[in-house]
Amino acid sequence: MSNFVGVNDVLGRELGSLRLSLTARCNLACPYCQPDGQEPKALLDQAQRLALITASCLLGAQTLRLTGGEPLLCDDLEPLLAAVQRRRSQKTNPLSNLHELALTSNGVLLTAARARSLRQAGLDRITISLDGTDGASVAQMSGLRGGSVAGIKVLDRVLDAIQAARQAGFDPERGDLKLNSVIQRGLNEHQLLPLAALARQQGIELRFIEYMDVGNSNGWKPEAVVTAAEMVQQIEDCWPLEFIGRLPGSTAQSWRYRDGGGLVGVVASISQPFCGDCNRLRITADGTAFTCLFGAQGTSLLPWLVPEPNLDGLIQIMQSLWQQRFDRYSEERLKAESVGMVPTLVEKPAMAYLGG
Ligand code: SAM
Ligand code: SF4
Repeated sequence: MSNFVGVNDVLGRELGSLRLSLTARCNLACPYCQPDGQEPKALLDQAQRLALITASCLLGAQTLRLTGGEPLLCDDLEPLLAAVQRRRSQKTNPLSNLHELALTSNGVLLTAARARSLRQAGLDRITISLDGTDGASVAQMSGLRGGSVAGIKVLDRVLDAIQAARQAGFDPERGDLKLNSVIQRGLNEHQLLPLAALARQQGIELRFIEYMDVGNSNGWKPEAVVTAAEMVQQIEDCWPLEFIGRLPGSTAQSWRYRDGGGLVGVVASISQPFCGDCNRLRITADGTAFTCLFGAQGTSLLPWLVPEPNLDGLIQIMQSLWQQRFDRYSEERLKAESVGMVPTLVEKPAMAYLGG
């Protein structure tokens, strides 16, 4: 087994976190995300995923977030978690470096049994995405045909999923259970306070995410972004807040409700980019590495995964990829916009492929 190497990029940023996408497919069709509904041809198997996780841990990753598309559509999710957990508990295994094993899901398939099996398999944290508290908003934000009736069905399943996760041992007070909401101007702005109220009532930290220009097909426009500052102001007008801060390498700024209502966060990727300490490596369901969420070009790791994983080769290529990394797309976009420049249109992969 190779030794721990750790790696810094051109801007001195360490590799700290792996976001591994297990599928590009989704059971919802959120218009801001635009899943293409098809699995890539070269979907990775367990051995390939484990090799990528091992190489990332040897290069410094301390957190692993499994994502998609919708990761609960992946049949071998629990076996993967169990395999990771086994390795994590072995002192000399590179995966013992993993402090956090997390998953992001839309919650629709998170039944009580599934929540228990994920917990038993070793999952530490789960983030559930929900963009509305009424049927019409959920239908619109999830791309459901069937209007508010369909939206209410999804909403009820997600509310049940939150309950199921809590009962399975994902304790929101410890941060094991969180909520994500994307807010888009003109679509679900009016859901900001109801979503905050729902999370407060449930004692769960909710992170409001600025609508991002990932991919080319979601029709993103700067005007559709409700900025983190606006969101915080609206919440603050209702429930006074105290700023806590943003941990290095984290995406969310945290705030505390002064009335004891817990925490709320904002992910200000557009208006206050945090490229300066971004430590995330993303690998898609077909083994393509992206060193920036807004990156146009990925690097296929398949030559080091097929016909079977070559761990030393993977470490070398991933190390060299990270060492050459100088992405700071979001900061550059902001700078360009501030001097009136329009970003050039390049072909960019969609969020459901990149994993968010
Ligand atoms: N299907 C899962 C889910 O929805 O949680 C996991 C994958 S999804 C791509 C991960 C996260 O990215 C979700 O919280 C989703 O809301 C967020 N997301 C997707 N497209 C986005 C966009 N254009 N801007 C901001 N957040 C986005
Ligand atoms: Fe699916 Fe998640 Fe994308 Fe919505 S955000 S379409 S739930 S992958």
